[in-house]
Amino acid sequence: ALALTATACGSGRDGDSGGSKGETKGFAADSLIGVALPSKTSENWVLAGDLFTNGLKEAGFKSDVQYAGASTTVADQQAQITAMVTKGAKVIVIGATDAAQLSTQVAAAHAAGAKVIAYDRLITNTPDLDYYVAFDNFKVGQLQGQALLDGMKAKKPNGPYNIELFSGSPDDNNAGVFFNGAMSVLKPEIDKGNVVVASKQTDVKQTAIQGWKAEGAQARMDQLLTSTYGNKELDGVLSPNDTLGRAIITSIKGAGKPIPVVTGQDSEVESVKSIMAGEQYMTINKDTRNLVKQTIAMVKALQAGNTPEVNDTKSYNNGVKVVDTYLLPPVAVTKANAAEAYANDPKLAPLTK
Ligand code: BGC
Repeated sequence: ALALTATACGSGRDGDSGGSKGETKGFAADSLIGVALPSKTSENWVLAGDLFTNGLKEAGFKSDVQYAGASTTVADQQAQITAMVTKGAKVIVIGATDAAQLSTQVAAAHAAGAKVIAYDRLITNTPDLDYYVAFDNFKVGQLQGQALLDGMKAKKPNGPYNIELFSGSPDDNNAGVFFNGAMSVLKPEIDKGNVVVASKQTDVKQTAIQGWKAEGAQARMDQLLTSTYGNKELDGVLSPNDTLGRAIITSIKGAGKPIPVVTGQDSEVESVKSIMAGEQYMTINKDTRNLVKQTIAMVKALQAGNTPEVNDTKSYNNGVKVVDTYLLPPVAVTKANAAEAYANDPKLAPLTK
């Protein structure tokens, strides 16, 4: 890896003799930092943009924060990253719109001497990714799976329980990790026959919702209700996030059926309201403020020529290498602990009163 870095460096930068004095040499305190976010598929991404703009400014950096558009997301993001490299960004933070489609842009960033941090979503199939910072995605899935079981048990003490499974967009590396985390909890119950996926659609491919689109989840739930729940009770639905969870609930209400236990993630305003109203059962709190703060701390370390702090060096193999990672802890939230979980969130706390 050292040899690669050294070759990739000398692209006409005076005084930049390429990494021979150890780790990093740092860069000017007012350098440009690029932030390339995916399209706004959920509230967390909307929040992240402003937090990066303000946080990087406060830290003394110049910033260029971009979102991929709603439809041509991959090409948009590739072009945005290329432009950041051209403008001389020293660090490029990327929330990938498609995990596997950025290796060319990330290699170009490295060739220009920039560091690359994958934000929230891993970037795969590249040796040129330096760091990954995210909430513990496997743990998110485990918390969802456990809450689904707990919620169903609270309503009906004994199984078997009928459930359906949904997962996120296949181009997002997180989708499979969330699903595997949830299945690590649900699979033993399914094997015992205590939990039944009545449609038999248990493969991550059958459950995936392309682009994390609400309308995709609603359409799939409509189909499942017709094909499988004509006169069968649906006890629970594993939904990977709030946007999809609310779409699933909309479908079920539209069919005139009772709302089952539905999971979620992101603590979106509408979902917190739904939880307080007794509709959606749970969500996950992944406080975007903390994730952005942690990312900016990494940028500051790189600026000073230090190695950013990581706390996981084994979980995230991107197909080429195991990426140095900082994982933050996610928190499961139901109506029972919402007030406590959101106590220091000025936007969500009032909703729990
Ligand atoms: C994020 C989730 C989010 C989803 C859709 C994932 O990569 O980790 O928090 O719900 O993208 O935007």
